[in-house]
Amino acid sequence: MISFELYQNLIEVVGLDSKIGVHLEKINSHNKRLNLLAEQKKSKEQKIPLLEKSLKEKRISLKQFESQLESIEIKQKQSRKNSLKIKSDHELRSYEKETASLSSQKEELEEKVLSLMNELELGDTELNESNSFVKGVTKTIEELGQEVQRDVAIEQKEISNYQSRIDLLLAALPVSLRNSFMALNKKYRFNSPITFIRQDSKGQYCNHCSIKVPIEEQIALDKGTQIKTCYGCGRMFIPSSLL
Ligand SMILES: [Zn+2]
Repeated sequence: MISFELYQNLIEVVGLDSKIGVHLEKINSHNKRLNLLAEQKKSKEQKIPLLEKSLKEKRISLKQFESQLESIEIKQKQSRKNSLKIKSDHELRSYEKETASLSSQKEELEEKVLSLMNELELGDTELNESNSFVKGVTKTIEELGQEVQRDVAIEQKEISNYQSRIDLLLAALPVSLRNSFMALNKKYRFNSPITFIRQDSKGQYCNHCSIKVPIEEQIALDKGTQIKTCYGCGRMFIPSSLL
């Protein structure tokens, strides 16, 4: 025989447990914020060495182009000097050809130098921004981490208060009722582990899943002789007279 007051304990346990759920949710959202920041930091940190490598390579290329440019300028100077000694049309044509080729090479190199300098400037800015971001986010994580630690400790204190009351309520139950409830609460925690039989003119139904419940089930439940669970959704029935 299970007295109805004991079922009352279960109603209370579920109510307290759902309050624990709210606190767990708060802890979860605190941790999510921290994790999100940590992920942003990590992703930025991973990009920095790649960016540095690419900038280093670009600086090497820039130096090479600049020295090629320098040697072309020397060739141009030399060619101009030589032009003073031109005696034939043939020499003139070959001088003109050389001048044109050197000019176009120079132009091409100047474009490459200019574009690399642009890329380097953008890359340097990105690198600086990334470094500042990592520095800033590290500080935020540190500060927020302390804040979260304090908040989580408060939430946990609340949870442990609720849990002690739950433990007392459960301890007062007969083993069979307690064990059945605890098994169901594992499965349906924060998702109504208990339900009741709803009655209308057509019959009686599980209030959670609306499946029809045989009248004998209800009678057995109301007599307090047996623990009854819904064969539709598996939740434990609480005598409806308690609600
Ligand atoms: Zn049901």
